[in-house]
Amino acid sequence: MTDMAYWTTDETHDPALTSWVESASGHSDFPIQNLPYGIFSPRVGLPRIGVAIGDYILDLPACVERDLLPASAASACKKTILNAVMALSVADRIALRRRLSEILSDEAFRTALQGHLYPASDCELHLPARIGDYTDFYVGIHHATNVGKLFRPDNPLLPNYKYVPIGYHGRASSICLSGVPVRRPSGQRKPPEADAPVFAPINRLDYELELGLWVGEGNPLGSPIPIAEAAGHIAGYCLLNDWSARDVQAWEYQPLGPFLAKNFHSTISPWVVTAEAMAPFRIPQPLRLEGDPPPLPYLANPDDQAHGALAVTLEVLLSSAAMRKAGLPPHQLSQGPASNMYWTANQIVTHHASNGCNLNPGDLLGTGTISAPGKDGFGSLLELTSGGKEPIALPSGETRTFLEDGDEVILRARAEAPGHVAIGFGECRAIILPAL
Ligand code: MN
Repeated sequence: MTDMAYWTTDETHDPALTSWVESASGHSDFPIQNLPYGIFSPRVGLPRIGVAIGDYILDLPACVERDLLPASAASACKKTILNAVMALSVADRIALRRRLSEILSDEAFRTALQGHLYPASDCELHLPARIGDYTDFYVGIHHATNVGKLFRPDNPLLPNYKYVPIGYHGRASSICLSGVPVRRPSGQRKPPEADAPVFAPINRLDYELELGLWVGEGNPLGSPIPIAEAAGHIAGYCLLNDWSARDVQAWEYQPLGPFLAKNFHSTISPWVVTAEAMAPFRIPQPLRLEGDPPPLPYLANPDDQAHGALAVTLEVLLSSAAMRKAGLPPHQLSQGPASNMYWTANQIVTHHASNGCNLNPGDLLGTGTISAPGKDGFGSLLELTSGGKEPIALPSGETRTFLEDGDEVILRARAEAPGHVAIGFGECRAIILPAL
């Protein structure tokens, strides 16, 4: 990063800072210390860039019109999509955040800005970026081990796992915003007892709890991103539900990996929690187990090992149609820390670009399912039900092995650190519709 390291805090993170937008104080997701970007349209009006503050959204193009934002960010803030904001240099990103923090905390700006705040509950949210490319990784080591055991009991982690941040190219066109229902897909699968595969609505519909990384400034084709510079290429974070058809996956995945089991729908949370907002929540990457190889030199960096993990708690909740009908609240399926990643976000970015592959602003990189070591932190039903063999109980008396039509899955994330105001990611939710 240019004028500060990515883990350095400044006045925008001050826990004593408050906003004249009263609902920001004590807000579980969007206190003034967060200031995430999104695309919204008010009840009357076109989509535009906004910043979530408490229960409101601040209209950024309106702030540009009033000449309230830094000149370096003005044209990016007038767009109807966030790619240009993500593409800003780190110094310009920091300048924009500092100014937003100033105008939303200093009472002197209340009169000028009050008319440009919209109640979030009245607004429609849209995909934050034009996602050129989407890549999904597999860095949740407990998930990789659990799933490996189901597919290959004798050989859960393949020999490359501790050397290569494993990933595959996903599909950007089917990434949808939180709230867009998921149609149960049909697919080709081969029941174990059958001689031949069938094509029919899938039975084993699952979710995957992941973090999404939004690529900021890109790299030219042919120019790798050194690990020491990787953080400057991450604009922010979101929640990602990588919906998965496990029966299709089991039949199709060899030899080329995931395909139609994964690309029918992915859900992201609407707000881009900036890399700058995450500065107080940087923690050391957990030490590798005794006997594990060190990362190869191109993935090794002392600052990344000291600050490359995120103090984020991830949570999955499920609500069935029967639960909603009975007035029951969503049921927590799991909760666990995001630090269960074998590779850091910076290592993901550096590895992706290490062959010269060009990343572009607004590209989305998924971490892969993040599971904690214990069952209460497993990030998919495949793991929670041991591949569908051990159903889980819901408060309604229902049981689940995989998702049923009418089920709604809700992902949440919260960053917390001692001496700092906690921030949230907002929700990533979607409901399952029956197959056509
Ligand atoms: Mn995934």
